[in-house]
Amino acid sequence: MIQLHDKQFVPFITAKEIEFALTKMVAQIEDDFIGETPVFIGVLNGSFMVVSDFMKLYKKPCEVSFIKMASYEGTETTNDVKQLIGLNQDLTGRSVIIIEDIVDTGNTLVELKELFKKQNVKHFKIATLFFKPEAYTKDVKIDYVGIRIPNKFIVGYGLDYDGLGRNLPEVYKLKE
Ligand code: 5GP
Ligand code: MG
Ligand code: MG
Repeated sequence: MIQLHDKQFVPFITAKEIEFALTKMVAQIEDDFIGETPVFIGVLNGSFMVVSDFMKLYKKPCEVSFIKMASYEGTETTNDVKQLIGLNQDLTGRSVIIIEDIVDTGNTLVELKELFKKQNVKHFKIATLFFKPEAYTKDVKIDYVGIRIPNKFIVGYGLDYDGLGRNLPEVYKLKE
């Protein structure tokens, strides 16, 4: 068990399970983009660790960039998604694959989709390591999912609780 601020968290997903899920996602994406040079776009802050491990497994030509969005305060999602760092790259005609740490309500995805509508991209795909199907309220298609999880608050592997826990190499869930 670990303590972050006022809350306790218990082990939930191991580093091995994460690696296994990422390996599967990478293989699938490599297959789907043969002959192309996709641009992976990580959604900061949470995705920094997923993107790093993902890129090390991805053996084909590709580019990587980041965008920064934020919607969470504490352990509750807010409907207001802010774009904190924008894209400074021309993505016209490119195959863009968003890499998310986690998709919860889907508010961030809707916001991202809007943003990329204005760019004339060739493909717009979404990959997420973690997905909470019970919390998802949107109809934006998620193309690649690593691990489906119940509607619980998790930390670790890039995900934080008020700034803490991002450096944990495995995932913990809020103790009930
Ligand atoms: P959404 O917009 O899909 O509701 O939420 C997306 C963002 O909320 C994620 O990128 C992540 O930053 C945060 N988030 C959603 N669920 C969790 C969770 O279980 N734990 C943590 N630490 N952050 C979460
Ligand atoms: Mg995220
Ligand atoms: Mg957060």
